[in-house]
Amino acid sequence: MTSKRTRDRLINRLVDQGVSDARVLEVIGNTPRHLFLDEALSHRAYEDTALPIGHGQTLSQPYIVARMTETLIGAAGQLNRVLEVGTGSGYQTSILAQLVPEVWSVERIKPLQDKARERLRLLGIKNVSLKYADGTFGWPEPAQFDGILSTAAPRSIPQSLLDQLAPNGVLVIPVGAEAQTLTLVIREGDTDNFIEQKLEEVKFVPLLSGLS
Ligand code: SAH
Repeated sequence: MTSKRTRDRLINRLVDQGVSDARVLEVIGNTPRHLFLDEALSHRAYEDTALPIGHGQTLSQPYIVARMTETLIGAAGQLNRVLEVGTGSGYQTSILAQLVPEVWSVERIKPLQDKARERLRLLGIKNVSLKYADGTFGWPEPAQFDGILSTAAPRSIPQSLLDQLAPNGVLVIPVGAEAQTLTLVIREGDTDNFIEQKLEEVKFVPLLSGLS
């Protein structure tokens, strides 16, 4: 299940689908995705599919994790501090943590956050700060991120997330209700102008307000 061959097969599939950033492929190839799932599902960890993590939430499909991560890295200049909205299992968090110096991640379901924290600890990942909060409001302190990645879909982009982009900061976020579009937003320098680019149709869980 965790053999190199199984993981290589997943990486080949991602390459076939157009993922090309070598660092992203390497990190995904080296990260034990099965540790982010309940045991009953861990045999499916290296399939390119979204999988349930409880509480009605899902661990995103590896292709989507790869695509969002490579988009964030490719569009940003320097990427020191990244905010993730929707920690979930902690899988996407762990991928980011291997690629950028500081990862901050917000989750509104406490038991998911607790499990994610334990997994990150077991993997020896130390450059992640986790917060139990409604990520619609980003992370108001420090409130300056070079990159923000949301793994839950709002109907429209929350103003707080735009406000918390550093100069030239980059936001990657699925937007919409039934039909969702993965969207890239870049802050133009230190202005309040934001350039928006629609990437592809996607299916994410909704960004919900309040705590659960
Ligand atoms: N990145 C996760 C994906 C989990 S699914 C992973 O790799 O496993 C999206 C997550 O977003 C869910 O855990 C859900 O609870 C969370 N979420 C939804 N709305 C949120 C909000 N307003 N604030 C913080 N987290 C939210």
